[in-house]
Amino acid sequence: MEKFSEIVYKRPDMAALKKAMKQQLELLKKAKTYEEARAAYLASQEITAHAETSYVVASVRNTLDTTDKFYDGEMQFFNRALAMLMPISKAFIDAMLRTPFRAEFEAEFGKQLFTLAEMAQKSQSKKIIPELIAQGTTENNYKKTAAACKTTFRGEECNFYGLLKHMESPDREERKEAYLAWAKLYEGASEQLDKQFDKLIKLRVRMAKKLGLPGGFTELGYLNMHRANYGPAEVEQFRAQVKAVIVPAVAKLREEQAKRLGVEKLKYYDETCIYPDGNADPVGGEAELVAVAQRMYREISPETGEFFDFLFEYGLFDLATRPGKHLGGYCTYLADYKAPFIFSNFNGTAADVNVLTHEAGHAFAGYTAMRSQPLMDYMSSTSEVNEIHSMTMEHFAYPYMKDFFGEENVAKAKYAHLSGALSTIPYLVSVDEFQHRVYAKPEMTAKERRAVWHEIEQTYMPWRDYDGVPFLEEGGFWMQKQHIFLYPFYYVDYALAQVCAFEFYGRMKKDHSDAWQSYLALCRAGGSKGYFELLQLAGLSNPFVEGSVEKAVRHVIEELNV
Ligand code: ZN
Repeated sequence: MEKFSEIVYKRPDMAALKKAMKQQLELLKKAKTYEEARAAYLASQEITAHAETSYVVASVRNTLDTTDKFYDGEMQFFNRALAMLMPISKAFIDAMLRTPFRAEFEAEFGKQLFTLAEMAQKSQSKKIIPELIAQGTTENNYKKTAAACKTTFRGEECNFYGLLKHMESPDREERKEAYLAWAKLYEGASEQLDKQFDKLIKLRVRMAKKLGLPGGFTELGYLNMHRANYGPAEVEQFRAQVKAVIVPAVAKLREEQAKRLGVEKLKYYDETCIYPDGNADPVGGEAELVAVAQRMYREISPETGEFFDFLFEYGLFDLATRPGKHLGGYCTYLADYKAPFIFSNFNGTAADVNVLTHEAGHAFAGYTAMRSQPLMDYMSSTSEVNEIHSMTMEHFAYPYMKDFFGEENVAKAKYAHLSGALSTIPYLVSVDEFQHRVYAKPEMTAKERRAVWHEIEQTYMPWRDYDGVPFLEEGGFWMQKQHIFLYPFYYVDYALAQVCAFEFYGRMKKDHSDAWQSYLALCRAGGSKGYFELLQLAGLSNPFVEGSVEKAVRHVIEELNV
């Protein structure tokens, strides 16, 4: 393959694509033997992979430079074009579910293929195309609003990323000011954000109604997340375990943090400051950290070494922050090239190291699955599993903390990571409960939604003290979470996966090579099986089962000494 920057992008010919899919659909319907049906199915997978690769190239380039009008136009094209593909993709799914060769398909590819098809059949319909297009447009508007959020800090105009470093400052006054500026940034945009969220809720609820789903958008959201094994009741039980096991431990961590910082009461702007003399920063910028990561991946295993060298050789990451670049970080996949791509905005904090472990964990899993799985549909799993890949890699990177942060900072960096991973879980489940309550009562006003957020916060983060800032006291904090706007119901998957990653971490302490082999097997399996089966394959506990959170997390609480 060529380097990512040299890949020639061409807009897919949608009419030709539809025609090719229709041809395969006819072949699938008419198939007299399994071989014929199989060939049609695999050909359709290839056609889809090809179009998707073009989409991913355009989408990555759009985020690399949001001022580039060409790729911005391509994204608008895809928003409509992909929605218009739904009828043919739905017809294909229907044909697969009616194939007389199901047993043969299942014997070769497993049952997951049909589980996915059954879920897609419930969640896809021509009827919702207008809402899908409107949703895409509203989501894009939201992204623009969020990216344009600006505020002033000490006389300088800056966005969210400009404030981050100050928000972690060891100087309490500086952090407080930075957080106030941050709150102003969202308060200033809140009217617009509320409107956009209202619109998204209405569109999503309407789609669920048109599809005839009695569980409303919650049911559709679960289907879109490909949750075949569990529903809201199980997730509620998981949140109850978090409340019983993790919330009290984090409350103690917060008390210790207050003592360490020498403050009487920990305020919201203190939570990100772990040490009075400042958090541990990485040893260098992009070049140094990528070199450390490359050494680390070569040392961890032959598979990870080969993977990282591949990323390096083909320019499959863009890490530096630049004006015009989209915010945040992500990992995506170019199916045609069996290649992952990592996007980030380095800012000189520990978050940079996290990109090279977390996002690279996703990238490694994708790279591995794309080479182990025969189907496009199996190249990645559902996000509760995908986030196990990434979060567990963060723990496999612990022995290399000295290289990323310097020998003198190892204890600090490791404590910050481990306590941070545990302390985030109550927030993750808060976002989850918020979404369940929002979609259960979609007619709520913006003000009522804020009251709900405030109440949830008090349940899972009783230590949270907004220091009398009215916007935050009345529940404005939820607004900073882009997942609530863009990726409904995703957030609990981070919590489910972190619990599994903690279990892996416990196993690393006991038998490193056994933990690595299980992890590798999980990455190789990609999305070829359901969630519960993949957990079993990796020897992990099911987080919904009472007692499993305690079992997975106890050793972390002990290590953190609370
Ligand atoms: Zn992730």
